[in-house]
Amino acid sequence: MKELFDVAVIGAGLAGILAARDLSQKGHSVVLLEGRDRIGGRTYTTEAFGDQVELGGTYVHWTHPTIWHELQRHDISILPPLNSEKTYWLADGSVHSGTAAEYFETVNPLMMQLVGDAREKFPAPFQVTNTTESDEQSIQDRIQSMKLSTYESDVLKGTMSGLVHSYSEQGIAQLLQGVSGTFGDYSGFFETASFWHLVGGTKRLADAIMAESSATVRLSTPIQSISDNGSHPTVTTRSGEKINARFVITALPINTLGDVTITPELPEAARIMIEEKNPVVASKIYVRVKGEIEPFIAFAPAGKHPINSARVEKRHDGDTLIMCICSDAAAIKADDHDAVEAALRAFVPDIKVVDTASYDWAADEFSQGGWGWYRPGMLTEAAPLMRQPHGRIYFAGSDIASLGAGFIEGAMQTAVVAAREVAAALAKEKD
Ligand SMILES: Cc1cc2nc3c(=O)[nH]c(=O)nc-3n(C[C@H](O)[C@H](O)[C@H](O)COP(=O)(O)OP(=O)(O)OC[C@H]3O[C@@H](n4cnc5c(N)ncnc54)[C@H](O)[C@@H]3O)c2cc1C
Repeated sequence: MKELFDVAVIGAGLAGILAARDLSQKGHSVVLLEGRDRIGGRTYTTEAFGDQVELGGTYVHWTHPTIWHELQRHDISILPPLNSEKTYWLADGSVHSGTAAEYFETVNPLMMQLVGDAREKFPAPFQVTNTTESDEQSIQDRIQSMKLSTYESDVLKGTMSGLVHSYSEQGIAQLLQGVSGTFGDYSGFFETASFWHLVGGTKRLADAIMAESSATVRLSTPIQSISDNGSHPTVTTRSGEKINARFVITALPINTLGDVTITPELPEAARIMIEEKNPVVASKIYVRVKGEIEPFIAFAPAGKHPINSARVEKRHDGDTLIMCICSDAAAIKADDHDAVEAALRAFVPDIKVVDTASYDWAADEFSQGGWGWYRPGMLTEAAPLMRQPHGRIYFAGSDIASLGAGFIEGAMQTAVVAAREVAAALAKEKD
C-alpha cells in the first residue's frame, strides 16, 4: 500500500493550516492538500498601489481568543484605521450626514430593539446545540416585526451592511449569538468584526503558523472526493491521485463542499446546508482616491446602493485609501472606476478615484462566496451536526463554526477542536 498519513487536512485556509500545525507538532504525519497555489484561503494579503492590502478577511480582535493567542505567540500586533468623525448614511432615498455621535444616537435605540435580547437568547454563546425559535427567523423577519419607518429601517440595515448580502437569506441568530459574545453590546460586536487589522497582514500570521508546521504541503492539488472505508479514508485529487490517511479533516468553504463527493453520504441536514450554500456573495474594494480627504464612514442598506459600507483606512503617498464593502458583488465591478467613483460621490461629491483593488471571491471556484453566514435554521441544527465526526472524516472551517462563524476566529476555533479530536482518536488507535 502507498504511504499512509496519520491525517490528511484538506484546505489551507486558517482552519486547515492551524489543524495541520497542531497535529504535526504532536508528532503525527500530516499532509495538507490545497487547491490554490497559495495558502491563506479567504484571507489574502497582497500588494496594490505600492502598498499592502487585505483583499479578504482582515479584521481581528483581542476578544477573539484563538487568534489573539496566535498573535501573542508570534508577536504580531494590531492597528486601527484612521479615526473618522464624519458619517454619511443613505436612508429613505437621500444621503444624510453628521458626526459619528449624531449617527449613533439614531442607530443605538434601533439596534437595541433588534438585538437587545441577545444574551437572553444565547446565554452561553459558545454552546449552541439546541434548535431555538430565533434561529428560524431571518434578519429581515426581525426588522419587519419592529414596524419601523423606511428611514429607520434603512438606518438599521445600513449599519449592518458590512456583514450582510441578503437580510432575508441570513439568519438573525448568528447576529444575536455574536452580540451575546460581546456581552450584549452590539457596538462591541461590530468593533470586533471590522476594525483592527494585523501589522504585516494576515499572510504574516499564516506564514508564522506554517513555519511551525512539519506537515507535507501540496499546493495546486484540488480534491475531488473523500471516501471512508471504515479503516482509513482515501482522498482522491482531481488528477486521480489517491492519498490515504487514518483520518481526514475537511477544512473547505461550505460553498465548495458540494463539488467534493463524500462517501458515505453525510446526514440529510448537513447535505441540505451544503446544497443551499452560504448566502453571502459580497465583495470588498480598496479605493485609492486623490488627496488627503477628510476621514469618513458611510453606510447604505444592502440592495439600495452598490457600495454599502465605506471607511477611510489610511493615507498613502499623499492620497487616501478607502475600504468599501459591496453587499452584492454583482452590483459593481471594482475595475469600473467611473462606477466606483459615482457610488462614492453619492456620499462625498468631489471624490476622485485614482485606482482600485479587489478580488472576486464569488467567481473563484475555491471559495464561491464571501464570509460565512448561516441561513435561518442552520446555526443550531445543521452546523452542530457538521461539527460531529463523520466516521473518520472530521470537519472544520469558519462556515461551520459556533461562536465566531464567518470570521477568522471561527475558522481557528474549529481547527483547534478538530485537531484535538483527531489527536485523541489517533492516540486511541495507536494504543
Ligand atoms: C471579502 C471578505 C472579507 C472578510 N472580512 C473578514 C474580516 O474582516 N474579519 C474576519 O475575521 N473574517 C473576515 N472574512 C471571513 C474570513 O476570511 C473567513 O471566515 C476565514 O478566512 C475562513 O477560513 P477557513 O479556513 O474556514 O476557509 P478558507 O479560508 O476559505 O480556506 C479553505 C481552503 O480550502 C481550499 N479549497 C477549496 N476547495 C478545495 C478543493 N476542492 N480541494 C482542495 N482545496 C480546496 C481553498 O482554496 C482555501 O484555501 C472575510 C471574508 C471575505 C471573503
